[in-house]
Amino acid sequence: MTQCEMCGRNEAELSALIEDVELKVCQHCSKFGQILKKPTFAEAPKKRVVIDGPEIIVVENYAKLIKEKREDLGLMQEDFAKMLNEKLSTFQSIESGHLKPDIKFAEKMKKMFGLILTKEIKKADIKIEKSKTAGFTLGDFIKKN
Ligand SMILES: [Zn+2]
Repeated sequence: MTQCEMCGRNEAELSALIEDVELKVCQHCSKFGQILKKPTFAEAPKKRVVIDGPEIIVVENYAKLIKEKREDLGLMQEDFAKMLNEKLSTFQSIESGHLKPDIKFAEKMKKMFGLILTKEIKKADIKIEKSKTAGFTLGDFIKKN
């Protein structure tokens, strides 16, 4: 069940454009904006994620890349953690490969040290499979509107 992003109380049944932001809202809150989608479309949220395009994930060898970068810069783990505003224990877990960093962490590494820890995964194959079972394609959706 999806919560209404405006009032947080009711179940979200609709997507509406409110002040240029697309929100999932309940029937009541949809009055404040322009309704974008009918409830039938909201029944298949997984399909929408696929259509959204490539997914960004953290690379497998993140630990090695981080360690190399840190040693390149001649920094201690303590310094590095402090610069990233992370707990030393968290940073140690990540650098030793025990904890996979999230996208936010990866973006911080990119911004501060120019180290890229993410890659894009194309999901074209999944898209075909999903639209077959769903009974309509993105093209159909555009035509209807
Ligand atoms: Zn609401």
